[in-house]
Amino acid sequence: MTKNLLVLGGTTEATALCQNLARSGISATVSFAGRVSQPKRTPLPQRVGGFGGIPGLLAYLSAHAITHVIDATHPFAARMSRNAVAACAQADIPLIALTRPQWQPETGDNWTHVPDIASAVAALDRPATRILLAIGRMHLTAFAVHPQHFYLLRLVDAPDTPPPFRHYEIVQDRGPFSIAGDLALMTAHRIDLVVSKNSGGTGANAKIKAARQLGLPVLMIDRPSLPARPEAHSVSDVLDWLNHTDTDRGV
Ligand code: NAP
Repeated sequence: MTKNLLVLGGTTEATALCQNLARSGISATVSFAGRVSQPKRTPLPQRVGGFGGIPGLLAYLSAHAITHVIDATHPFAARMSRNAVAACAQADIPLIALTRPQWQPETGDNWTHVPDIASAVAALDRPATRILLAIGRMHLTAFAVHPQHFYLLRLVDAPDTPPPFRHYEIVQDRGPFSIAGDLALMTAHRIDLVVSKNSGGTGANAKIKAARQLGLPVLMIDRPSLPARPEAHSVSDVLDWLNHTDTDRGV
């Protein structure tokens, strides 16, 4: 059976996987949600935009004769990941998630864990402070209930409308970030608190290491729970799995 993969992308790890698949001559398409104006180019053909929930994803898988799905989305892209599990189960298409371990606190870290964005917002009900709010742009509005704080926002694209804050600054940049760069950024803006998702991986952990060096507290938003699914932690594990699923199916 000729393989024809769908890679659900939007992460540094997905980009690395796409480069490897292209080098290996494996047919694959990478899919982006369309959240940023210029998704990172990979050598693979790409499509952009939601599929239209589980029915839309099922229709796409069938129309494009997809043989394997690799979910390499961000650990907080829970809706996409849940839809992928459901659609692949219904269509009997093998699925694997390319995931990265969560960050773990180390000596010198001062983390407060919260289970979700709403709890992070609730935890900021305190006197004015200077916050690096490094959570992307999707959930910024929720923090508007605390206008007393200064928010330093790091965004890939300039927002279409100003963020709903009284005191803020936007730094337009995209990862991977460096510790030296994040130390300089946080010092220049006199940051006293970092609010972060527990994304894991190396592309965004510079701010966590910088906070450790500066002795700053971190409000760490834990990951959403996802249905059980096969997982790989490296590109080579994904390639092994691809070979394996061939064997399992006797093709
Ligand atoms: P989400 O809440 O799970 O997804 C919402 C909807 O967006 C999905 O139901 C799907 O629409 C569409 N979608 C998401 N990822 C897609 C993909 N790769 N290809 C096609 N459609 C996709 O996801 P999110 O948190 O908004 O993240 C969107 C994308 O940004 C993801 O691809 C993720 O890898 C990337 N990203 C997210 C974060 C983060 O913190 N959440 C950080 C870095 C990168 P339909 O239901 O219509 O199919």
